[in-house]
Amino acid sequence: MSAKVLLHPKVTDFLQEPKKLFINGQWQESADGRTFETTNPATGEVLATIFEAGPKDVDLAVEAASKAFEEGSWTEMSASERSRIMHKLADLMERDFEVLAQLDTLDNGKPISEMRSADLPNAIEQLRYFAGWTTKMTGQTVPISPNSFNYTVHEPVGVVGQIIPWNFPIMMALWKIAPALATGCTIILKPAEQTPLSAVYLAKLVEEAGFPKGVVNIINGFGKVAGDALVKHPKVNKIAFTGSTPVGQSIMKEAANTMKRVTLELGGKSPNIILPDADLDKAIPGVFNGIMANQGEVCCAGSRVFVHESMYEMVVDRLVEFANNVKLGDGLDEETKMGPLVSERQQTIVTSYVKKGVEEGANLLCGGKELDKGYYVTPAVFVDVEDDMTIAKEEIFGPVVVVMPYKTIDEVVERANNSQFGLGAGIWTENLKDAHTVSRKLKAGSVWVNTYNVTDPAVPFGGYKQSGFGREMGSYALENYTEVKNIWINLE
Ligand code: NAP
Ligand code: MG
Repeated sequence: MSAKVLLHPKVTDFLQEPKKLFINGQWQESADGRTFETTNPATGEVLATIFEAGPKDVDLAVEAASKAFEEGSWTEMSASERSRIMHKLADLMERDFEVLAQLDTLDNGKPISEMRSADLPNAIEQLRYFAGWTTKMTGQTVPISPNSFNYTVHEPVGVVGQIIPWNFPIMMALWKIAPALATGCTIILKPAEQTPLSAVYLAKLVEEAGFPKGVVNIINGFGKVAGDALVKHPKVNKIAFTGSTPVGQSIMKEAANTMKRVTLELGGKSPNIILPDADLDKAIPGVFNGIMANQGEVCCAGSRVFVHESMYEMVVDRLVEFANNVKLGDGLDEETKMGPLVSERQQTIVTSYVKKGVEEGANLLCGGKELDKGYYVTPAVFVDVEDDMTIAKEEIFGPVVVVMPYKTIDEVVERANNSQFGLGAGIWTENLKDAHTVSRKLKAGSVWVNTYNVTDPAVPFGGYKQSGFGREMGSYALENYTEVKNIWINLE
């Protein structure tokens, strides 16, 4: 019996509707009428046609956000009222939980079980967490002398352009908009061209929640056109970007022209280290899921696994066994543990890396294969990998792991840090001292001990080195969206 979920009636209706741009609280076709298609990566079939924002549409969206900001319809609303509207949006996302889960599974391919247990609860919690902050952001009073009153005010940075990737479509959208809303900014969100659907649905909920017009504008389109226009627009005060390191670099250069504030959450090649005393019943499935969750399409995926030589062969055997037993399939099947990659292009990128690994002399023990239909790649495990091989250095963004032995803790720390990236890192150990000392030595924004890939709205997340800068989530995220003003009053 197939365990495939039935599409929610709201999903089937939504797929039929036109997917317009949400600008200034209104639904608009693109100025030049251009559209693009989005496909279901499990089948390669077209799911829907989407209006594509061009520079004119970006301009309209920025004007709307700018007007909303200047008029103060959001910024000057009471903090508790802003909080209430954000909670309202969270309530609506909870009401349409299954609809949003199915839309991302259809568009991205990921298992519906992951949408329900991880992406969507996390996305909704972002709104609730940051709704709590609206009433709690305070400045300082600075006691410089009895003759003056000196204080700071944290003001919203203004109009923010937010550009997000396709690997966690709805979750990335909320990681971005929740802190910006809490601080009083107005927003233009550009989702990834591969996964536009859930963002259009989110715009419907934004409309229903009662945000003042122009506060949240959601425009689908391509990075090189709409994304670029946002980055260049003089009235955008800040760009928040998640995606590849090369695009992040070009955004940073371009943003210099208008001195935009920029935060970047970029790629990774994160190490996941099994220390000699690890509890292997937890560590082995832990490192396996650390790379294979979400088909390996995770910026902080633990793609370099380091295993102490004393247990290396046994761990490799178990990882291969896990890989051979993953239930691959359509994300809409309740039993699927791994879906297809997001696109044919991503499938080609990943299989090219697998080929390169073999060419450079690494030993592919399993996986790395395409299936007849859909953009699948079977989970791949490589051994006999040198640190300077391409597959050990570059972000693959797919279900491919390199497993490497080490002898000493000092050695593994040095090799783990020997990367241009520094997003995540994992340690598996039962030894408290090693857990703390190795954590301190790893150059990464997140170090997970005896767990991996876990995030929470209250906990900061972001990169060292070429993994970017700025921290999403936690109180740190508020700094991304505020300017500090000092007010000095002479009392003499
Ligand atoms: P990408 O090009 O960096 O795309 C991320 C976002 O940036 C998308 O919304 C994209 O729009 C937009 N964009 C692209 N070029 C832009 C430009 N010149 N100016 C402004 N915005 C621009 O990533 P991708 O092509 O989807 O994936 C390629 C590789 O990036 C992957 O193989 C993976 O290694 C890495 N990646 C990393 C992350 C991460 O979370 N760190 C996420 C996704 C991908 P369009 O999609 O509409 O072009
Ligand atoms: Mg799609």
